[in-house]
Amino acid sequence: MKLPLKLRERGASFIGGVHPPEGKALTEHKEIERYVPKAGGEFVFPLSQHIGAPCAPVVNKGDRVLAGQKIADSEAFVSAPIFASISGVVKEIGPRMTVAGSVDPCIVIENDGLYEQAPALFDLKNKPSVNDYIKIIRSAGIVGMGGACFPTHVKLSPPKDKVINWVILNGAECEPYLTCDNRLMIEEADAIVDGFAMVLKLFPKAHGIIAIESNKPEAIEIIGQKIAEKKIKNISVMPHKVKYPQGAEKMLIWSITGQEIPAGIGPLPPALPADVGCIILNTRTVWQIYSALTKGLPVTERIISVTGDAIANPRNLRVPLGISVRELINACGGFNYGGLEPVKILGGGPMMGISMRSLDVPVVKGTSGILALSKFTAHIEDESNCLRCGRCIDACPMRLDPELLDKAVRRRDYKLFEEHLGTNCIECGCCSFICPASRHLTQSLREGKAAVMAARRKAQAQQASQSSKQEAAKK
Ligand code: SF4
Ligand code: SF4
Repeated sequence: MKLPLKLRERGASFIGGVHPPEGKALTEHKEIERYVPKAGGEFVFPLSQHIGAPCAPVVNKGDRVLAGQKIADSEAFVSAPIFASISGVVKEIGPRMTVAGSVDPCIVIENDGLYEQAPALFDLKNKPSVNDYIKIIRSAGIVGMGGACFPTHVKLSPPKDKVINWVILNGAECEPYLTCDNRLMIEEADAIVDGFAMVLKLFPKAHGIIAIESNKPEAIEIIGQKIAEKKIKNISVMPHKVKYPQGAEKMLIWSITGQEIPAGIGPLPPALPADVGCIILNTRTVWQIYSALTKGLPVTERIISVTGDAIANPRNLRVPLGISVRELINACGGFNYGGLEPVKILGGGPMMGISMRSLDVPVVKGTSGILALSKFTAHIEDESNCLRCGRCIDACPMRLDPELLDKAVRRRDYKLFEEHLGTNCIECGCCSFICPASRHLTQSLREGKAAVMAARRKAQAQQASQSSKQEAAKK
């Protein structure tokens, strides 16, 4: 398939966006190191680590479990099982705090330090056929590991009437400071290319694009070399302009295919990538697919950047899921005291990361980084009045009017918020970043979206209860 001409004309980018300080130099040349925790620590596994139905425990308090053993699952299609990352004894099943600050049901396992492995997901003597891929991907608990955490087997099973022309590997890693995807592409290029070729077997008519921002020249070169060596014809590497949020699904599709994903209007949800013939997978998700299909390994670990100017020794670490953020910060030498104390600690990057209320929270499938920023890099400023400069409108990649939407939320005018498509905000943070008045626009829009969604859920529940009453009255 020919690449669209428009792509070359535009230089593979999108309208809007910003150029925040990259901060990647702290870890971009640091190889991924495996971190092996000592015996005795607690590992915490929230029962919901994905979009969709939460899992229920399949183990009990007091059970001994092995690394790679399933500990929670659900019968729902949109869900993904959860596995122990270490061997040990189930100490507790109960509420614990997560990175997002919520207190959710979790399985707590005490690490025995033996790392005894459970058997592989399938008999490794028999290579799985393409027909088995989706089943194995589901049984491995793979979800979108770029942070969205949508179950991958669902994404790879689009409705039959959708023709998939493009499968896109999202190697943009546009979020500042984070470098773990870049390192993975450099250090495990064979697995990434082979894993992506396996995914393409599910969509034989599609072309595969590996999208990488041009500030990762080593990854672009190595991945390109591997594709050439393996003589793979249906995969191309495509360098993209360095601009945030280049790696957002909608922006990437627009940059590559020139197609826009239709926005949601009123209660109608926005269209999905499959509606415009695309499927997008994160680098780490593809690596995980390769591990599941070739080694029978489920999701038990994550590669994360522990970084920021307030961390003494920033590193890229391969860590078992469920480990505490505090332990990883200590593994990186702790905080960089002496003028660079942390004033902001985030789960994820500076643009879309979540402020952490506690360090005693676990790393989960969607954790891409831990970022500790000092007062010199955190930009914590008080809000002032809007200057009506319009910079937030120019920066918004979704072509929204953040200033107007913010006003609507502050007045609790959710009708106006909906009319101006506020629910299409992707919470990228560009508007807040660019605002000279330091308005907390993204936070405000996030609140607006939550209020509208809650009102819609309430209306749906009322409608359902009214219909069931009418049905009962008819009988
Ligand atoms: S309004 Fe939403 S989508 Fe637009 S820049 Fe702000 S956070 Fe991003
Ligand atoms: S960027 Fe800030 S100051 Fe400028 S219009 Fe938007 S909200 Fe107002």
